[in-house]
Amino acid sequence: SPAPIETDALIIGAGPVGLFQAFQLGLLEISCHIVDALPAAGGQCVALYGHKPIYDIPGTPVTSGRDLAQSLLQQVAPFKPQFHFGEQVSTLARQPDDRLLLTTSAGTAFLAKTVFIAAGVGAFVPKRIAVEGIAQFEGSTLFYHPDSLDRFAGQTVVVNGGDDVALETAIALTALARQVTLVHRRDGFQADEANVAAMRTLVADGKLAFRVGQPSAFDGRLLQITTPDATTVDLPLDALVACLGISPRLGPIADWGFELERKQVPVDTEKYETREPGVFAVGDINTYPGKKKLIVCGFHEATLASWGAAARVFPGKAIPLQYTTTSTRLHELLGVA
Ligand code: FAD
Repeated sequence: SPAPIETDALIIGAGPVGLFQAFQLGLLEISCHIVDALPAAGGQCVALYGHKPIYDIPGTPVTSGRDLAQSLLQQVAPFKPQFHFGEQVSTLARQPDDRLLLTTSAGTAFLAKTVFIAAGVGAFVPKRIAVEGIAQFEGSTLFYHPDSLDRFAGQTVVVNGGDDVALETAIALTALARQVTLVHRRDGFQADEANVAAMRTLVADGKLAFRVGQPSAFDGRLLQITTPDATTVDLPLDALVACLGISPRLGPIADWGFELERKQVPVDTEKYETREPGVFAVGDINTYPGKKKLIVCGFHEATLASWGAAARVFPGKAIPLQYTTTSTRLHELLGVA
């Protein structure tokens, strides 16, 4: 396996707090890598309420989940954090030299002087189809929330799901696949009117098949669905694409020895450090007396955690507090000099 990436700081989670953590570290001249299980930044703000308004970000009377993520990305850009998307951090272990070795589901390894767990309510991963033995087909004939649909050109594809992503996927596939069938557990959708209308038009025109039912067996080529009247239908296919939504899984963090309290990592309120020196926890994932799961609280935690980290990354160095308004050094770092 390739040599681990050495870094001053590794941030687990690119939600709003992980992004602002990277910014605060940048002001203290600590470079970082950020890993997220999702394909893009924003955490809950993008995955759960991208288009909904937020009214309690200081100095920002109104924004949306998606716009807040964009602003945070723009703010942190001068510090060039290195993102690793679509990877879940699975292990964390102290090394003899006191650094922390972390590995991801994609086989990436990091050797970090400091770690920031900004994991929110867990890694967002696609919900799986509940059929025994189906996992073995993942990546060959079964795909969850695929990034690109190109590979399905000319194929017979079944799409399972009833939300906007499922409908948009089925609609897009009709333009390139040989045959597309949408399977949903009921004839009703939790989706935009426009997507539902487009889907119904394609069905009426014979370009898309629609079946009400739930997957009940799959052998890699034949999907059996069970309909509401308890009959079964076999659908032969080249590919099964499932878009059943994404949900957070705390996953491996529960195994890292942090003695979780109600699935949250206890921290102090001076540095937001866990019981493991050099491992900080910020945002929704942490807990302390008075904890509130709000973005503004996560921003404060991230600010103090980066000062805690600076003491480890630059041992013995006195670090003065500088204002972004007036510090020429900070202007240089921010690229506004
Ligand atoms: P998250 O946003 O949860 O991001 C954590 C990220 O870490 C995720 O992207 C996840 O995939 C990743 N991750 C976790 N574990 C791993 C791992 N092992 N490996 C790789 N990646 C991992 N707050 C407000 O302040 N104001 C509001 O108006 C507001 N409205 C809300 C509305 C809704 C509907 C919801 C659900 C929440 C709302 N919140 C609001 C709460 C706010 O969204 C959270 O406090 C905030 O998202 C927490 O940010 P975070 O960065 O700590 O975690």
